[in-house]
Amino acid sequence: MSKFFSGRHAALTPYTPGEQPQDMQYVKLNTNESPFPPSKGVLEAALREAGKLQLYSDPTSAVLGRKMAQHMGVAPEMVLMTNGSDEALYYAFMAFGDEQHPMVFPDITYGFYPVYADLFHIPYEEKPLAEDFSINPAEYIGAGKTVVIANPNAPTGRCLPLCVIEDIVKSNPENLVLIDEAYVDFGGESAVPLTLRYDNLLVVGTFSKSRSMAGARLGYAIGNPALIADMNTVKYSLNPYNVNRVTAAAGVAALEEDDYYRANCQTIMENREWTAQQLESLGFDVIPSKTNFLFARSAAVSGETLYLELKKRGVLVRHFTAERIREYNRITIGTREQMELFLEKTKEILKEANA
Ligand SMILES: *Cc1c(COP(=O)(O)O)cnc(C)c1O
Repeated sequence: MSKFFSGRHAALTPYTPGEQPQDMQYVKLNTNESPFPPSKGVLEAALREAGKLQLYSDPTSAVLGRKMAQHMGVAPEMVLMTNGSDEALYYAFMAFGDEQHPMVFPDITYGFYPVYADLFHIPYEEKPLAEDFSINPAEYIGAGKTVVIANPNAPTGRCLPLCVIEDIVKSNPENLVLIDEAYVDFGGESAVPLTLRYDNLLVVGTFSKSRSMAGARLGYAIGNPALIADMNTVKYSLNPYNVNRVTAAAGVAALEEDDYYRANCQTIMENREWTAQQLESLGFDVIPSKTNFLFARSAAVSGETLYLELKKRGVLVRHFTAERIREYNRITIGTREQMELFLEKTKEILKEANA
């Protein structure tokens, strides 16, 4: 730490991203990226737009925002496009969280929520998930605090039905409810239609997972126009050109080629169910998932050992060290070939553990 580092930030524990090794080729099942490349139209749009990189991007992302609004069935004033959904999340935390507006979220969820809350000095309460990693909705009904829920949740993969989300939103009219839908395209139900009826609901989503654009950084927030206006005040105080022009053009093309991405999500869901069955037949405990990953543990080998042994064999999965989940690994669903390789290496490791 330098002697110049602000005391305000010195105690922060920053978020730890999944490994992005640059040295060797791994079968990368650790950061929930899509195994499929962007669609042809996205590549063409990105290349076309790259020829104009000397010019700033449109700070309002108007063309993309209108396209997104149309895609979601909401008005353009209800949409904010962002540099990944992480940016949408931190604008929301900055705009809506403070000592008077504390937050509540599950103890096991996206690791950025407590990081942003600490960064912006927002008090928060972490509600323990049930033993089976399900969220108990009763703990969020009439919470009296800003509610933040990833639905489906990460890294567990479990999903709450839309009627439960609506109950939570309805019972907290004086508090914001933020639903993070990073994985909604893999079998969940989007709460976006509810934003037309509830002014306290903000939905955040991303092009990183289901739309093969993790490296482009594109996310969004959808909610009542007043909420979006507040977030724009924060955005224009920090980073007006938040979505670069190549990414914005790619995003428009991605929305135009929805069929391609839907088909990919379908394939990933099929590969997920197949992989879950295979893992169960190997004795794994697998949490039911509506995402592009599985959360699983084996009684025969520790979470850490499995992670390290897979890594030695060229397969990366995500291991977390938090007490409640250290025996698990989060396995991103890739192509069928990738999952076969992952299973083959896993069998090898189990065999060695039993020998
Ligand atoms: C991946 C992820 C995000 C952020 O993704 P971006 O790449 O920043 O769009 C947000 N929330 C959850 C739960 C995620 O898993």
